[in-house]
Amino acid sequence: MYLCSMAGIYVHIPFCKKRCRYCDFYSTAGNNTAIRESYAKAVCWEMELRREFLQDEAIKTMYFGGGTPSQLSAALLGRIVRKAEEVFGFDTLDELTIEANPDDLSQEWIDGLKEAIPQYQLRISMGIQTFDDALLCLLGRRHTAQQAIDAVHRLQDNGITEISIDLMYGLPRVEESNEANKTYLEGWQNDLDKAVSLGVPHISAYHLSYEEGTPLSRMREQGEVREVNEEESLACFKLLRHTLLGAGYRHYEISNFALPGHEARHNSSNWSGIPYLGLGPGAHSFDGMHRTWNHPNLIRYLEVLGSKEFIENFGTISSGETLSDEDRYNEYIMTRLRTAHGISPEEIATRFGNERERHCRLRAQTYLNSHRLSRTADGRWVLTEEGIFVSDAIIADLFC
Ligand code: SF4
Repeated sequence: MYLCSMAGIYVHIPFCKKRCRYCDFYSTAGNNTAIRESYAKAVCWEMELRREFLQDEAIKTMYFGGGTPSQLSAALLGRIVRKAEEVFGFDTLDELTIEANPDDLSQEWIDGLKEAIPQYQLRISMGIQTFDDALLCLLGRRHTAQQAIDAVHRLQDNGITEISIDLMYGLPRVEESNEANKTYLEGWQNDLDKAVSLGVPHISAYHLSYEEGTPLSRMREQGEVREVNEEESLACFKLLRHTLLGAGYRHYEISNFALPGHEARHNSSNWSGIPYLGLGPGAHSFDGMHRTWNHPNLIRYLEVLGSKEFIENFGTISSGETLSDEDRYNEYIMTRLRTAHGISPEEIATRFGNERERHCRLRAQTYLNSHRLSRTADGRWVLTEEGIFVSDAIIADLFC
């Protein structure tokens, strides 16, 4: 067991009003109120059933991800939080995050949430992606740029200032000319400037990926959209760093930027190997030695959790594995190297042995020589700007 005194809870909310064209996360569209009620009840049962998973670790963070958690009513979200308080014995948290879509953030929903869980300082993580309405439409998002801006202001007016927004770069190209090239980067600059002007303390930025089987992937195959090339991606990434670092944000993880003191605590805990319990179909859990996951099947989840035999049958909707030393070393490399904290050869030797430390040192030397990794004053290795852009290859190379 990983020795620490804190843990987190992740609750997957597998509902979306409409599927976005690029997304392959597990969620279902068009569910009715009765299913959502049953779902909240099922998640509460799963908490009861798995209350021992985190042993006696104190719960410090809770995260509702999706899917679209804001598709759940404030009352149902409140019910799940109160059940977690009862089962895991906490009455306060360092962070309570709810992912949200801009067009769900009505005054009524915000009021409901403040009433349902008044004791928590809420953190809202909002998927905006771009402020370009034509691109939002192409991506199949269900909100406009103005709705996103209004939603941020509404939260701020209601005293909810811990806001994170998601942006996406490397979005599809629909035109080819040099002029369009210029416009393309100007468009991304415009997104970044708008994001900064909103005064949110946290911004996540992801490169669009064309996931197999998604409508956007088919559009690319049929030549309806063109994927950006590596040069364009790199230009976007450099613009991202330049703009956000210039505005005072810290680049503390490959995809995440925060004003000082506003880093995401739940996700940072996950990157540090702190245990978490994941509830709902598709959710993963980790206790330091074992990883388990619930199968991404809402109907089966509801059937099992809604039945009298749910204790006996829970094993049919989840799987798990015990991590080997090698898995744990690889996981350490993968999660830590993505962060500004980087990896520490000393820590590797202590936690995973001298042989793995030698292996890592040998491989890392190539990247230190090519300035893709740099050494900090206290001896850790961190990715440089050049390194971040090829981080997947570096991480894979340092694996055992
Ligand atoms: S991107 Fe978010 S809102 Fe869109 S389909 Fe995926 S989970 Fe749902």
